[in-house]
Parts: sequence; C-alpha cells; structure tokens
Amino acid sequence: MKLATKFIHAGVEPDATTGAIMTPIFQTSTYVQSAPGIHKGYDYSRAGNPTRTALDNAVAAIENGKFCLTFSSGVAATDAVIKLLSPGDEVIAANDMYGGTFRIFTKIFSKFGIVFHFVNMQDANNIKASINAKTKLIWTETPTNPLINITDIEAVSKIAKAHKILLCVDNTFASPYLQNPLDLGADIVMHSSTKYLGGHSDVIQGCLIMNDENLYEQLYFIQKSCGAVPGPQDCFLVLRGIKTLHVRMQRHCENGEKIAHFLRNHPKVKTVYWCGFEDHPGYAIAKKQMRGFGGMLSFVLKDESEENTKRVLSSTHLFSLAESLGGVESLINHPATMTHASIPREERIKNGLSDSLIRLSVGIEDADDLINDLNNAIG
Ligand SMILES: *Cc1c(COP(=O)(O)O)cnc(C)c1O
Repeated sequence: MKLATKFIHAGVEPDATTGAIMTPIFQTSTYVQSAPGIHKGYDYSRAGNPTRTALDNAVAAIENGKFCLTFSSGVAATDAVIKLLSPGDEVIAANDMYGGTFRIFTKIFSKFGIVFHFVNMQDANNIKASINAKTKLIWTETPTNPLINITDIEAVSKIAKAHKILLCVDNTFASPYLQNPLDLGADIVMHSSTKYLGGHSDVIQGCLIMNDENLYEQLYFIQKSCGAVPGPQDCFLVLRGIKTLHVRMQRHCENGEKIAHFLRNHPKVKTVYWCGFEDHPGYAIAKKQMRGFGGMLSFVLKDESEENTKRVLSSTHLFSLAESLGGVESLINHPATMTHASIPREERIKNGLSDSLIRLSVGIEDADDLINDLNNAIG
C-alpha cells in the first residue's frame, strides 16, 4: 500500500455493530461481563478501550511496527520506557533533545538510581566510549529539538545491537510520514502525538511503537500498572489527525524549505538551522533516512541582543508565540525561556542552544504570507 492510502485506511475498520465509517468515541470506563471473566475483550478502560485500540492499530501501521501503545502524553510514553530499567542501569542519551525529556531523566529517574550519560550523537561513534556492562538503553531524537541536528539511526542501531542495548528513537520532529526508525533498526519509536500526529494543537498525547512482542508485553504491563492512558475523545482526535498527516507534512516541508531559504538570504539573519541545506552537517544522513526535511527550523539574528531577539519574537502576527509544534498554524518560540527552560543554562550553551535562538514550527498557511510576516517582524 502506498503511503497516502495507508495514512487514511491503516488499522481502521468501520464499526462492526453500526457500520459507522468513523471509529466511535467509546466514552466508557467499564464493560459488562456475561459471567465473571467472560467479556468481549475489554474489562476496564485503563487496560483497554476500543477507540484507543483503533488508534494503536493505525499508528503501528504507519510506523511499520507490529504494536503500538498510546499514552496520555509524550513524556508519559518516555516515562514508561525508562520504567523498563532497574536501579543501577545506565542510559546513553543525546545531549541535544527536548527539554522535558532531559528533565524527566535528570530530575525524576536519577533519584531512582538510573544513570544517564549525555553524548553528542551527531557522530554515532561517540556513543561507544559510554557503553559498559550496565548500559541498557540508548535514547536519541532526530532531527533534534531545537537545533535540528541529525543522528544516523542505522549506525546507532548497529552499535546498540552489537552490545545488546535497546534503542529508542523520539521520532516526533520527523513524524512517520518522513522517517520510520524501526525500519532502520530501532527497537522502540516514541512520539509526542501532541505534535504532527494530532496536527491541530488540540490534544496532548504520546505513543510507543515496537515490533518485539516481549517488549510490547512489558510496556503494556507498565502502562496498565501506572495508568498514564489517554481518554477516548483524545484518541479519536489523533485518529482523525492521522488521516491528513501526509498532505499536511507535504505542505510543512514545502513551506519549511521556502522559509529556510528566505531566512538564510536575509541580511539581518546570522544562522539558520535546517537539515535540508546541503551544507548542514547532517544533510547526507537526513537525505538517506528521511523522505523530506520537515517544517521545523531555528535561527539566530545578527543582532543577538536579548532586546532584539525578544522584539522579533513579539512582532509576528501569523506566527503565534507559543510552545509546542506540528500544528497546521505557524508558531514561533524562544527555547531558552520556553520549551528548553528546564535545561540548566550552562548545559544549554555548551550544546549550542544560545539565548538568542528562535525556533519556528512552520504551519501549512500560504508561504508568501508567512514570509511577509517574518520579514516585517525582523524589520
Ligand atoms: C513535545 C515533545 C515531547 C513531549 O511530549 P508531550 O506530548 O508534550 O508530553 C517529547 N519529545 C519531543 C521531541 C517533543 O517535541
């Protein structure tokens, strides 16, 4: 099945009892049993809900995976993966990634004796120095949030497999339309479905996709035991979002490319971070493992003063100043004080995330209007 067909049909069947073409929102906590333990596959909605099952099936199909588990947020999905580990186990994580992932690792799981090593994964070989007998998991994100750095998933997965270490890839920025990490050797794919999968800035949700049944059973047990499940209405919204993911992503990519070039040619812009530039250090890998370069990019102005950076952040009209990304509408964001404020300043600066970095989530509006908006704001 070609991608466009798959995004609309995958995993979704008309409702068996009514023929409703859209999966109903099963707004129920429990299910009637005909005798103790005799039921139709569902006994309690923390353990399972038919709307959620339809979404799990759809997401598994579009990520080329056998199993999917949907969670109440992206960080809840991350939380479940780390709960596979025991005190003393070690994780090698990318040094440049979503601030909330860094926060849950260092502020929550460090307390429980899990040890995290943060490594620059733009060169997969950098991972090797941190591997030891206790290493159980490699966590990476590509393209990274917000510096749009690229990690070679296949190269990392070869190292992980050689040492029998699990590899989890946060695929939020690429979406399943642009990149499928399981095909490149990852064991688990994680998404903040809040972003491109939902696509309309109206839901918080996350998911994990995998092929290994044993891993799925372990993660399902964690989900059922800890309870970070999404409600059925939110599952319905993400199911609907997925039906247009391919057309949205095509436009995100087109607009992202136009805006990246506009900014790069602007006399008041110093640097643009976008993995579709041929001179981007990760370009060759991005071209190899992605089907397009996406709608996320960051930039720094030549006048890097706090005053000028904040002036531009507050001067756009179509780009709304807000956290999050991946919706149909364009957003502008200041990582240092917004999405990545949970990372200590020295840590951020060391990894290249300066106070003057501006991040854009390019939406699917008309590209000329978006460019005019940025041009007016930059002045
Ligand atoms: C937003 C985001 C998350 C966290 O997801 P939530 O749905 O906000 O909990 C994780 N990773 C990346 C790359 C993100 O952008």
